[in-house]
Amino acid sequence: MEQETARILIAGTGPAGLIAALAFADAGFPVQLVGPEASAPDGRTTALMMPALKVLERLGVLQDIKSQAAPLKVMRIVDATGRLIRSPVVTFRASEIGEDQFGLNLPNSVLGPALAGKVAHHGIEWRRSMVKTWQLGPDEAVAVLADGSEVSASLAVAADGRLSPAREAAGVSTTARSYPQAALVLNFGHSREHAFTSTEFHTETGPFTQVPLPGNRSSLVWVVKPDTAEELAALDDAALSQRVERQMQSMLGRVTVEPGRQIYPLSTVTPLRFARQRVALVGEAAHVFPPIGAQGLNLGIRDIDDLVGIASENRSDPGAPEVLAIYDFKRRPDILARSSAVNLLNMSLLSDLLPAQMARGAGLGVLGGFAPLRAFFMREGLRPGSGFAALAGGLRKPARQQ
Ligand SMILES: Cc1cc2nc3c(=O)[nH]c(=O)nc-3n(C[C@H](O)[C@H](O)[C@H](O)COP(=O)(O)OP(=O)(O)OC[C@H]3O[C@@H](n4cnc5c(N)ncnc54)[C@H](O)[C@@H]3O)c2cc1C
Repeated sequence: MEQETARILIAGTGPAGLIAALAFADAGFPVQLVGPEASAPDGRTTALMMPALKVLERLGVLQDIKSQAAPLKVMRIVDATGRLIRSPVVTFRASEIGEDQFGLNLPNSVLGPALAGKVAHHGIEWRRSMVKTWQLGPDEAVAVLADGSEVSASLAVAADGRLSPAREAAGVSTTARSYPQAALVLNFGHSREHAFTSTEFHTETGPFTQVPLPGNRSSLVWVVKPDTAEELAALDDAALSQRVERQMQSMLGRVTVEPGRQIYPLSTVTPLRFARQRVALVGEAAHVFPPIGAQGLNLGIRDIDDLVGIASENRSDPGAPEVLAIYDFKRRPDILARSSAVNLLNMSLLSDLLPAQMARGAGLGVLGGFAPLRAFFMREGLRPGSGFAALAGGLRKPARQQ
């Protein structure tokens, strides 16, 4: 007898919510999406690695937008701290692990509308309202919307961002801290070609990360003290262009900043569980950390991929406690490993303590000088477990050849 397929409710309409809606609909689930339409323009870009791009491709989103993205072929870390212990430049090339590119850098102003367009094209029901309250019972999750209506489902997917009201309603506690840092985000043109290289300059206040865009353009995430972010954002175009060029050591020649500057305060939020009471957390509801190393949405897409896979094997009641326990168990190592790696790196930059600087310098130094270790980290960066798999493959090879 065929199993009945239960309904999925997705709260939140940022990238994670829209991708979750498409992925669940694609897997044959009836989906109800709840959340507002994007209102403010978003000048940020998102670097997505190959595994995340494969998910977008499968969902039919990538084909129409990839011409507006730039491939990431080389990633470079430059120690610009001026501290006693400094590490050499570390360069990661996709070609070293047999890939043409690590991923694509996509403007959010392109990705967001493409996802929303696909949701409409798919005929997914989208209630453009906020969830006002949650009633989470043993058999179903009920969302009471701001317009007074109710939506119920076997499984509620919390894609409602860093403050996640659904997470709170499910009684999931979090550990949180805010950093004395903010990210200034803008795009800029430059006179030299970027050669599809992203460069992350490590400074005492955080990383300054340039990521290529199509043409002689790049995006910038510049992590500084909150006051400095405000001061920089208030500069006129010519003065800010000069500051960016100086910080980039004129690597890309003459810099011209484009209109639009955004500031994001930096914080970290880690839930103690990733699912509870018919609610499964994805995206920033499940993990918030500083924008270092392009991890956030890549991790969010892995949350969604795992959740849809687990739900597909439990179609009649994907929100049942034992199913949510599988999701929690599966996501925990990946989320905790990524969050702690990013937080540790960020703290080692901020730390004036010599041991922290030495550890970072030594780590990057070893990484820079030892190709197999670099390859391991590149593979792990793309897809967790694949670095270990390649190592195991490498170790197994001689045995197979015998
Ligand atoms: C400067 C910066 C650069 C970044 N660069 C990268 C990168 O290069 N690569 C990468 O992978 N990641 C990157 N990230 C991380 C990435 O942007 C986030 O992981 C991603 O945007 C999170 O999406 P989300 O949908 O989970 O959350 P959000 O985008 O915050 O969406 C949450 C949604 O929930 C809705 N909502 C809230 N409450 C309710 C409610 N009660 N009812 C209904 N809806 C509700 C909100 O309106 C919103 O639509 C970057 C982040 C920053 C800040």
